[in-house]
Amino acid sequence: MPLQKTDGLILRSIPLGETSKILTIYSKDFGKVSVIAKGARSARSRYGGTLEILNHISIIFYYKENRDLHSLSQAEIIDSYLVIKEDLHRTALAMAICELTNQLEVGQEANPLLFRLLLSAFKTLDDTERQPVNIFRAFQIHVFDLMGFRPDFFNCTGCGKKIETTCSFDLMAGGLICDDCLDQGTASMRLYMETIKMLRSLQKTHISKLQPSAESSSAVQQVDEFVRVYLRYHVDGIRDLKALRFYDEIE
Ligand SMILES: [Zn+2]
Repeated sequence: MPLQKTDGLILRSIPLGETSKILTIYSKDFGKVSVIAKGARSARSRYGGTLEILNHISIIFYYKENRDLHSLSQAEIIDSYLVIKEDLHRTALAMAICELTNQLEVGQEANPLLFRLLLSAFKTLDDTERQPVNIFRAFQIHVFDLMGFRPDFFNCTGCGKKIETTCSFDLMAGGLICDDCLDQGTASMRLYMETIKMLRSLQKTHISKLQPSAESSSAVQQVDEFVRVYLRYHVDGIRDLKALRFYDEIE
């Protein structure tokens, strides 16, 4: 059982027995890993508040080859994102990011781009100068890229012409399709031009550079609907995010 060192973000925490817990961590070097933290819930735990969900921590753990569950040995805080935790909306969005990352079928394999995206999203959410709501939208659109189904919001997937007006999005082809090329049977979704422009902007902008959206609420709603439908189309068994339902309730 070799000792391994890495750092990662705590996506989920489940109580185990009287005083322990199982943490799911998205780590820099191992992708998604689960570790048992013995005694972490006892009042005199040596971990203190280190192992709370949404923390970025460095860990040393016993790595068990071909096993899903490893044992935590040591942990230290890197960032506890206090701005996020003091704001209910930001907390709900950060939880939604964690829930989604946990649902993506990412096993014990490092994905440095996803790790960096997660940390950028958290760092931006943790900045009071930043409007939080677009961060989760942009996170999902960047996830599409990393999962290998980057949507094309610019040209018709049929004839290649540049799209300048309301048209449909072909879910299987992963791109816009003009009315001349659209077949009746295609699984598609109608998008306004304003929605398409917002999707383009979210796709090309680094999360840390996002500006508050100036789009109409109907375009924003359509962006959210598109993201939900497209994700479901490409990721098997994905479930509605509880944190997002909570966000909608407090909004
Ligand atoms: Zn076309």
